Amino acid sequence: MFCCSNCFADAEIKAIIDGNKTTGTCDFCGSKNVHVYELGKDQIITELFDGLLDTYTPVLNLPNGFPKRQTDLIKNILCYNWHIFNLKPDCIYRLITSICAERYKEQPELFDSPVGILQSQNHDYLEENSILKNYCWDDFVEGIKRKNRFHSNYINTDKLFTFLRCARKPHKAGEVFFRSRICPNEKGYSRKEMGPPPDTKANGGRVNPTGISILYLSDSRDTTLYEIRAGVYDYVTVGRFRLQKDIEVINLADIDRISPFIGIDYGFDFTQYATNIEHLKMIGQEIAKPLRNDNALDYLPTQYISDYIRSKGYDGIEYISTMCKNGVNLAVFDQDLFKCTGTTIYDVKSIAYSYDQI
Ligand SMILES: [Zn+2]
Repeated sequence: MFCCSNCFADAEIKAIIDGNKTTGTCDFCGSKNVHVYELGKDQIITELFDGLLDTYTPVLNLPNGFPKRQTDLIKNILCYNWHIFNLKPDCIYRLITSICAERYKEQPELFDSPVGILQSQNHDYLEENSILKNYCWDDFVEGIKRKNRFHSNYINTDKLFTFLRCARKPHKAGEVFFRSRICPNEKGYSRKEMGPPPDTKANGGRVNPTGISILYLSDSRDTTLYEIRAGVYDYVTVGRFRLQKDIEVINLADIDRISPFIGIDYGFDFTQYATNIEHLKMIGQEIAKPLRNDNALDYLPTQYISDYIRSKGYDGIEYISTMCKNGVNLAVFDQDLFKCTGTTIYDVKSIAYSYDQI
C-alpha cells in the first residue's frame, strides 16, 4: 500500500515522502505519478503518528463526567482540528489505520470510538500549558476592554511565544509590497505622501494602538484597493514599497498550520499543541477579521498580541486579507524598513459585489 505527499498538508510529512523520490500511484487519494511512500517499509511516519495519537484517550478510559462535547472520533479530529491531511475523514481513517496498523490491532478503540484529551479538563495543566490558561478568548477580550488593559493576566505569554516563533517568516531586501490611498483628484499623491501618518495623527488599527504609527502594506495592488475599500469613481494612488534590508516577521496566516512534528525542536509536545490549536486559530482569525464599525476597543485584543510580537524584536506581522481573496497584508513596525519607490494613479471604474441574503 502506498500513500503520497498529496494526501498530506503537513510540511514535515510531505518532505519525508518527497525525500523518498519514489513515484507511483497513491492507494488513498488516487494521485498518479506522484511521490509515494510504501506503508510498512519503515517506521518513520508511523512513529510520528504514534506520538500524536498518545495525546488522545478513548472514551472508555476517560473519567466519568468528561464533557461529551470535548470528544470526537480520531478521523474527525485529524481532519477538522489538525492541518495534517488533505483527505476527508473516512479516507483519513483508512490511512491512519494503515500507517499505525500495529496500534490499530492493539487498541482499536482509539480509532473506532470517540476520544478526548485528558489534560483538557485539568486546571493545573491548562494554567501552565494553555495560551489562555483556564480562560476562553471572550474572557480575554472582556478583560482587556473592561478590566486591565496594560497588564492583562489572561494570556500565558511564554506559551504564546513558543508557538509564535514557529511562524517566523523572512523577507529579503528588495521585495516589493504595495500601499494605496484614495486621493482627491487625478494628480494623486507624491511618493513622500504615501507613507503612514505621523504618530500624532495615527488612529488605532488591528496592529497598532492610537498614537503609534506603523506601515500597513499588502502583497499586491488589488489587495490594497480592497483593503482601503476604494469606491467607484475614486482616484487611488498606489505606492510601491521596496524592502531595504532582510527582516523577519510573524506570519499569523499560518499560526494554526505549524507542523506538530517539529515540536521537539521548538519546545512543545503534541498535547500542548492540541490544547492550544483552537486558540491559535482564533488569533489568526481575529487579526484578519473585518470590523464593520470602527470601535477602538475592538482592536485591543489584536493590538495586545502585536505589541507582544513587537516586544520580542520581530519586524512586523503578516496576516491574510479578508477583503481580498488570496490577498496577504504585512504590517511593519518601523516604516524606515521600506522606501516608496514609485506611484501609479488609478481611476476606479467598477466594483463587483458579492452578498448573502440575511
Ligand atoms: Zn495520496
